[in-house]
Amino acid sequence: MPPLSVMFKTVSTDCNLDCAYCYYRESLEGTRVRRRIDPRLLETFIPQYMAYVADARAASFAWQGGEPTLAGLPFFERVVALQAHHARPGTTIANALQTNGLLLDDEWGAFLKRYNFLVGISLDGPQPIHDQQRRAKSGRGSFDLVMRGIDVLRRHGIDFNVLCVLGPHNVGHPGELMAFYREQGFTHVQFIPCMDFQAMEPEKPPVFQVTREEYGAFLTSAFDEWHQDGQPSLSIRTFDNFLQSYVGVPNDLCVHDDKCDAGIVVEYNGDAYPCDFYIHPRWKLGNVVEQPLREVLYSPIRAAFIRQKRPLPSACQECEWLAVCKSGCPRNRAEDGGGQVPDYFCASYMQLFSHADARLRELTSHVQRRQRYLHQLRLEPKLADRKGDVCPCGSGKKQRHCCGAPDAARSYVFRV
Ligand code: SF4
Ligand code: SF4
Repeated sequence: MPPLSVMFKTVSTDCNLDCAYCYYRESLEGTRVRRRIDPRLLETFIPQYMAYVADARAASFAWQGGEPTLAGLPFFERVVALQAHHARPGTTIANALQTNGLLLDDEWGAFLKRYNFLVGISLDGPQPIHDQQRRAKSGRGSFDLVMRGIDVLRRHGIDFNVLCVLGPHNVGHPGELMAFYREQGFTHVQFIPCMDFQAMEPEKPPVFQVTREEYGAFLTSAFDEWHQDGQPSLSIRTFDNFLQSYVGVPNDLCVHDDKCDAGIVVEYNGDAYPCDFYIHPRWKLGNVVEQPLREVLYSPIRAAFIRQKRPLPSACQECEWLAVCKSGCPRNRAEDGGGQVPDYFCASYMQLFSHADARLRELTSHVQRRQRYLHQLRLEPKLADRKGDVCPCGSGKKQRHCCGAPDAARSYVFRV
């Protein structure tokens, strides 16, 4: 069986913040309410899931919300106990937690470190920018509390990445954001343009909070900051994804992959959906408490969803960037109600590709040379001792100024 990633809406829409742009702000009933995953869901789902991924020996859980830490540590302790109990020996279990960081303390830190959780933390930039949108219900900004949560992660040596939502509050400040993230020593950052839509209303055209031009200008400036003369040291997910496509490895972001994601999203009550943006009865795949998991996974709705990028809008079929862009996200095609116009951010992607193509090609050659060098090194380990020689990666530089340079490993390109 292929690997299957599952995203849990751990507490449904419940959250301890009230960010103005939240697309998961309202429940199906129209209000934010306190909900928790029924323990029966874990007891029923995890054994079936672990059996499903037993051959692949890879399990992938993402815990989202609302704010998933509201479920409390005992909930997550039960999760990891069930995972360990039902996993086939040798299975790699990956847990990712997307949080606003407000509830993180040393007890959480010790737990997340012990079970090697990857944490995504929402931070929109330095305080004056972040606090414009990411506030408590009282109106108070959350920056200080988020930074306190990040401090917990750092003290416990937990891997984390930063999720930055781009809206009117920060899209005009790419330099400031990049400088802030570098100054803070963050290593992995993801930008997501803000869309003002509800996940529960997929038929409604989204309203976008940033224009195509603004997003395009942001991407091109951020790319220049990221590139650093061919030695990027900070991982920016959008650029990493495009570089993956240039190199020819599968893209790990569905928006720029050939098809929609094949994972599932599970709500607090066991209802399953194909995507975080399609939490709607029309797209319900089934219920993982009431039905066997395989029945949910083999739902014809899921099969249709995975194929929904096709047919491509005619503009995409003729586009010179199709191999890299893969036509974007179908949710962003809803402008005409029929899904036949390209992704709303098409012009932004084109702006970036025209701006960055030559440098992405150079980086691609570098990555490929490096891959060849590593392959050679596996066959001939003594190559690594010849420091005075021209680098076998093919760059034409001396080893000590190329792959053998003391800071080479710090370059993002060397880690692709
Ligand atoms: S609709 Fe968009 S976000 Fe959802 S799986 Fe498809 S590409 Fe990804
Ligand atoms: S850049 Fe635009 S036209 Fe080209 S593949 Fe992407 S969405 Fe389609």
